[in-house]
Amino acid sequence: MKTSDIRQKFLDFFASKGHQVVTSSPVVPGNDPTLLFTNAGMNQFKDVFLGFDKRPYTRATTAQKVVRAGGKHNDLENVGYTARHHTFFEMLGNFSFGDYFKRDAIHYAWEFLTNPAWLGLPREKLMVTVYATDDEAYAIWADEIGVPAGRIVRIGDNKGAPYASDNFWTMGDTGPCGPCTEIFYDHGDHIWGGPPGSAEEDGDRFIEIWNCVFMQFNRDEAGTMHPLPKPSVDTGMGLERISAIMQNGHSNYDIDLFQSLIRAAARETGTPFGMDVPSLKVIADHIRACSFIIADGVLPSNDGRGYVLRRIIRRAIRHGYKLGQKGLFFHRLVADLAREMGDAYPELRTRQGDIEDALRQEEVRFAETLEHGMALLESALEGGRDRLDGATLFKLYDTFGFPVDLTADICRERNIEADIEGFEREMDLQRERARAASSFKMTGNVDYNGPETRFRGYETHSTDARVLALYKGT
Ligand code: ATP
Ligand code: MG
Ligand code: MG
Ligand code: MG
Repeated sequence: MKTSDIRQKFLDFFASKGHQVVTSSPVVPGNDPTLLFTNAGMNQFKDVFLGFDKRPYTRATTAQKVVRAGGKHNDLENVGYTARHHTFFEMLGNFSFGDYFKRDAIHYAWEFLTNPAWLGLPREKLMVTVYATDDEAYAIWADEIGVPAGRIVRIGDNKGAPYASDNFWTMGDTGPCGPCTEIFYDHGDHIWGGPPGSAEEDGDRFIEIWNCVFMQFNRDEAGTMHPLPKPSVDTGMGLERISAIMQNGHSNYDIDLFQSLIRAAARETGTPFGMDVPSLKVIADHIRACSFIIADGVLPSNDGRGYVLRRIIRRAIRHGYKLGQKGLFFHRLVADLAREMGDAYPELRTRQGDIEDALRQEEVRFAETLEHGMALLESALEGGRDRLDGATLFKLYDTFGFPVDLTADICRERNIEADIEGFEREMDLQRERARAASSFKMTGNVDYNGPETRFRGYETHSTDARVLALYKGT
């Protein structure tokens, strides 16, 4: 079953259950300035869940374009290392706005996955989790669906605070929240990893395919949970993950769509084709994220979303360089992507030229410094050092345009520690210098906040520090 067929089947299934099929919103959220990129299917419905927005339907289903490369969800560091993470992916979702709740949500998910008329997955390959105290969901799985007790795991508060579990969803410190139930697929004991809740759960044997959130409470300032009068449902399933299973593969990167992109990446980097070359997977992943981000109106820049984009592009270019491609190549993959995904997402075709131009320009810009930066890095690492100092990280960033996470990625490949704290100290010093220069300027120049003064440099760096903080998960 092709990836595009699975997407269609999902939408058809929920349409047959009375859901309105709604098109994906852009990856740049229009309704939420606090959000870097759309990171879940529910984002476009946030105001509907909060009751600020009314729709003519109470059930919806979507295939949503999602980017997780910064902010609350950042999977950039996972790409190339796990079988299941992308920076861009499609999240299939069904939503109930005060309509059905736990029972129907669980029955729908199980029917779609296991009924031979839909996906027909073997029941014994599936495992589920519920929130520790959610007896209601547990009973539906155990008594109505018939999942054996050994394959239902209760997940409690594993993050040291009440309701801070992966299985308890919150929109913020206050507001709607509630327990989740997740469905996992067991890819078999030849793959490292343990069931959810175990010490080895981060492995890739048991892969989470579907997360259902039950918005059941409203949490007030004092932390008290009030039952919502009309509880809601928000679910998300990764299309690439379910596709890997349906195509008898393990890794997301094995699916039809990625095979084409990896083949294209091999062609454009002059590398022999192979499905297990990490750099090819990274390039195939990154062309999707970059193209969709640009298609939705972001260009590479030194702050905010534009800087996240710049970091992803430069990472892809660096992986091409690692494969021996010293020339421009990345923008040539847009045509392949448009061929693969343009039917579902026509913006890839209508904006193909703009995307190629933006990527080519960024490739030209980075080509000016990449080789010299790599030479500096190699000489700093000469003699088998196991740690890269903060001053070099900073010089690579400041003079050669190497985002710090890009250099950290190179270090990780070579088992070298990157002194991120040392880098941050250098950033602080730079900021001090910029501040001193800008206050000096203020005395002699009324236009101190104008675009050409040093003060902008400070802004740029402070934003980068913010991105850095996100990257570090703080
Ligand atoms: P994981 O624990 O594997 O990182 P998650 O719990 O962060 O996944 P959710 O936030 O629950 O993921 O998102 C809903 C679904 O989206 C997941 O069950 C999974 O199928 C899919 N998904 C999440 N992150 C990614 C990603 N980076 N790439 C591809 N699919 C993803
Ligand atoms: Mg995750
Ligand atoms: Mg998870
Ligand atoms: Mg989850």
